[in-house]
Amino acid sequence: MVPRVIFGRGSFNQLSEIISPKRLNVHAPFVFLVDDVFKGNAWLTSRIPLAYEDKVIYISSNEEPKTSQVDDLVEDIILTSRQGTSGIIGIGGGTILDLAKAVAIMLTNEGEAKDYQGWDLVKNPAIYHVGIPTISGTGAEVSRTTVLTGPEKKLGINSDFTPFDQVILDPELTKGVDTNQWFYTGMDCFIHCVESLNGSYLNEFSKSYGDMSFQLCKEIFLQDTLSEAESQDKLMMASWHGGMSIAYSQVGVAHAMSYGLSYLLGTKHGIGNCIVFDHLSEFYPEGVSLFKEMKKKYQIELPKGICAKLHDSEFDIMINIALGLEPLWENAIGKNWKKTITREKLKNLYLKM
Ligand code: NAD
Ligand code: ZN
Repeated sequence: MVPRVIFGRGSFNQLSEIISPKRLNVHAPFVFLVDDVFKGNAWLTSRIPLAYEDKVIYISSNEEPKTSQVDDLVEDIILTSRQGTSGIIGIGGGTILDLAKAVAIMLTNEGEAKDYQGWDLVKNPAIYHVGIPTISGTGAEVSRTTVLTGPEKKLGINSDFTPFDQVILDPELTKGVDTNQWFYTGMDCFIHCVESLNGSYLNEFSKSYGDMSFQLCKEIFLQDTLSEAESQDKLMMASWHGGMSIAYSQVGVAHAMSYGLSYLLGTKHGIGNCIVFDHLSEFYPEGVSLFKEMKKKYQIELPKGICAKLHDSEFDIMINIALGLEPLWENAIGKNWKKTITREKLKNLYLKM
């Protein structure tokens, strides 16, 4: 679990007082990894509390994080901070939060980020790291994974050292997100709940978080009674609870297949999940029907035919990635999932997308 979290509109202003006691020495900087969508946005950047040799690195989130990108950032930080690094502070969406977590881990662990993709492979605690989400839905702010695309696989660094030491939840930071992106990332949260609540790994712990998040999502995406601020506040909480729910259970079919799309076509997580989930009524009838209602309400047009021109070898790559995520299938279908989830079935589903 994340040991420290503060919540509230404007709580970003407390960053300085939160991190100051964690400074190792005046030559050990805090490194702020910031989504480059905020470059030139003084409302946010003027409040980043820079002191001594602290640095801001702006990063594009047009592509999902790669293991090689983590290695490059770590090398750069080590070369320019010769007396250590006081902490890594990620300010952005899931892309930047995952990068921040991975960089914090790789600053204290030998080798390359790709060596740690998997479960519980990290040996040494990460350096102090803080997560500040600016868009809500992924649950990356609370999870014990950092999802990375490596040379061979798209898989997280799942470990007890991955979660942030501190999270600042300031819903006001999400105010600039456009409707489509708000929907895609918000639906990531909704899909986390559906997959967790309908999975065989469910237990009372994950259920209570999942139920709460599911209700919040219905309120946010289907009712007209919330103000913009209330909707931002609630989606930030839904994201957190959805993340907690899957932390103690697992995701399912949409995530497994969306990882395939992402690996081959570079489709981003939020929109990729939406594209897949739209075709999963066989697995999640109630969830998919609610999803279609929400999609209609916000007039979201998802891309179509994205797999139409793929060759068999490309389908094989996507199917291998999807089927490789065995815990997701076991959660979704049960222990005997291999009897019903065939390569042919996945290919037919991909062909519909
Ligand atoms: P993102 O971080 O990729 O950002 C999406 C877009 O929104 C970007 O263009 C970004 O610049 C923009 N944006 C972010 N905040 C903004 C703001 N306040 N105003 C205007 N624009 C803003 O999107 P995401 O959906 O949050 O994250 C997706 C990533 O999260 C994927 O890489 C996925 O693998 C990862 N993920 C991780 C976990 C986890 O548990 N670690 C879970 C789910 C997803
Ligand atoms: Zn997700």
